[in-house]
Amino acid sequence: MNVLVTGGAGYIGSHTALSLLEAGHDVVVLDNLCNASQESLRRVEEIADRSLTFIEGDIRDRACLDQLFNEHSIHAVIHFAGLKAVGESVEQPLAYYATNVAGTVTLCQAMQQAGVFRLVFSSSATVYGPDAPVPYQENMPRGRTANPYGTSKSMVEQILEDVVRSDQSWSVALLRYFNPIGAHPSGRLGEDPQGIPNNLMPYIAQVAVGRRESLTIFGNDYATTDGTCIRDYLHVMDLAEGHVSALDRLTLSGAHIYNLGTGQGLSVIQMVEAFERISECSIPYQFAPRREGDLDAFWADSNKADAELGWQARRGLDDMMADTWRWQRQNPNGYRTNINTTSEGTS
Ligand code: NAD
Ligand code: UDP
Repeated sequence: MNVLVTGGAGYIGSHTALSLLEAGHDVVVLDNLCNASQESLRRVEEIADRSLTFIEGDIRDRACLDQLFNEHSIHAVIHFAGLKAVGESVEQPLAYYATNVAGTVTLCQAMQQAGVFRLVFSSSATVYGPDAPVPYQENMPRGRTANPYGTSKSMVEQILEDVVRSDQSWSVALLRYFNPIGAHPSGRLGEDPQGIPNNLMPYIAQVAVGRRESLTIFGNDYATTDGTCIRDYLHVMDLAEGHVSALDRLTLSGAHIYNLGTGQGLSVIQMVEAFERISECSIPYQFAPRREGDLDAFWADSNKADAELGWQARRGLDDMMADTWRWQRQNPNGYRTNINTTSEGTS
């Protein structure tokens, strides 16, 4: 298949572009590089020993999309492009709705005009909301959302369900990711957040490599065994492979929801200890008050993905830690060779 990957230069998109190339698909990446570097794609080509097509452009730009669909015979779209910083979404809700919601609508309009009806969408476990019991199952209703980022994912799910209801030509997979971490085992591809990392694993890895002094753990008074939050962390390569599996399923019309997680919950403290054990680095940390919007504990029931996609997370915690550490050690400044840590805002 010739697959358009929006946001394909980013963290999950670049690993997925690699899995697609390795599975024999052709790949066209559309990315405006607002949170990524084209270097990731150069490395994808190097590892796969195959080339892909890169188009620098924006999902909100209808003319750009129309030209792309005219010039390339696209069979399916995997749609990663979007903004993902929860805190920023509270400060800039319009930017989040414009990119995540309006951008997806524009993409779907261009797809419809081009006669492309197969879509895999990056959704999130956040759509279950605070009231859902764990483990989360796909048949639970979407819940309340705590911030504009989460609301944008929930809105897009609703929009795509309405779209498939209106026209049976559409086949859509809504993939609800839990917490992707890790990197390609080569150490050549990984997560490269701009500025201070929001997420736990890149923060830990930057402490280990000396870019940050210590980790701040948000909250140690949750109703969990050690008081810190519990999440379902999965290896980014397992997640990437989940997209390839979902693509194969897009012969069925309708909207199909799948949780992609391991089914196992781990606390922040357990994550720190596992990283320390694998990397043999000490990660100093201190506790701080809870982060607004964080839920105490959630993890996936991924049986549906297993039954219908034949997908399971295969890589374990030690792989996630070893691959994170290899990536960060070999690329202390991510895809950039030089970095001014003062202007970067080192904590
Ligand atoms: P990322 O920021 O690394 O990748 C997103 C990519 O989209 C970037 O390369 C960015 O440059 C590009 N992009 C942003 N706006 C664009 C626009 N208007 N036009 C074209 N390109 C644009 O993030 P990621 O972690 O790889 O996440 C990919 C998707 O998965 C996002 O939609 C995110 O919301 C979703 N998701 C991520 C996580 C996670 O923990 N990383 C969890 C659940 C869902
Ligand atoms: N976390 C933390 N310190 C950090 C970043 C994250 O203690 O610097 C905690 C956060 O409160 C949550 C867990 O780590 O309990 C996972 O957070 P992350 O942002 O990685 O993922 P989320 O589940 O919020 O999407």
